[in-house]
Amino acid sequence: SEAPGYRGRFAPSPTGLLHAGSLVAALASWLDARAHGGAWLVRIEDVDTPRCVPGADRLILDQLARCGLVSDESVCWQSQHGTRYQQALDTLAATGRAYPCACSRKDIEAALLAQGLQRERHHAAVYPGTCRPENGGLRGRSARAWRFHVGAPAPLAWTDRRLGTQTQDVASDVGDFVLRRADGLWAYQLAVVVDDAAQGITHVVRGEDLADNTPRQIALQRALGLPTPVYLHTPLVCGANGEKLSKQNGARALDLNDPLATLNAAAQALGLPTQTGQVPEALARWVEAWRLKYPPAPVSTLP
Ligand code: GLU
Repeated sequence: SEAPGYRGRFAPSPTGLLHAGSLVAALASWLDARAHGGAWLVRIEDVDTPRCVPGADRLILDQLARCGLVSDESVCWQSQHGTRYQQALDTLAATGRAYPCACSRKDIEAALLAQGLQRERHHAAVYPGTCRPENGGLRGRSARAWRFHVGAPAPLAWTDRRLGTQTQDVASDVGDFVLRRADGLWAYQLAVVVDDAAQGITHVVRGEDLADNTPRQIALQRALGLPTPVYLHTPLVCGANGEKLSKQNGARALDLNDPLATLNAAAQALGLPTQTGQVPEALARWVEAWRLKYPPAPVSTLP
């Protein structure tokens, strides 16, 4: 075991069952943990309660178990971690890195138009900073959401084990993103950063669709004084239409009558050889193949 301190995780949102794409991330994170001789944890990311499907969490755990993927520690649910998220928000607010925002979507669009910015170029509207304390704060309006103060524009560079060096300017490309939504729900960015740290996660392996969230998460880790895990983003599985598979575009449910065939499809997406025989032996051979393809990465020593 090259990295005895290794702790990895798979963090599905129970907005539906696992599909072929999400199984790729599950398998990859499991293989990476085994290749490092480390622990693999499952965390149910159910903070966006309106989008969660009752019972999907249990069914996901069942799907994983049918594929031989079982959490090494007790599974946890983000819906039970509100206290830790609030503590993190309090810390950020106390250090000037979080502020309340009164702007509605319409307010933001109007402010962007007033700045002469075209909506097309800002489909994921960069918040114009209206409620930043240095711009006057709430000015008597009532708070809706809480935002992260990303600070001045500056490139943030990070290294992905598969994609190599990545750079994003969070201030210019994303802006002051939401930590707690107007409806009181915790945002994914805050919850994932707080839980990765609380669970001592050293390595994050997840789908490439999440790669562009990483700079926001690193910025939050730095503001909270938390360590940054090592990241690896896996290739996405495309459907027949060439689009990434997702619950939204109707990815078919996994066939668990033949778990090896289902795992073989996931392995193929990861560039791993097809296996025959029993699931446990197939998984063991994939661990060896994975080790060669994605060499073990030491636990990060960066703060
Ligand atoms: N819950 C997120 C999702 O299912 C994944 C979060 C993560 O791996 O960081 O898309």
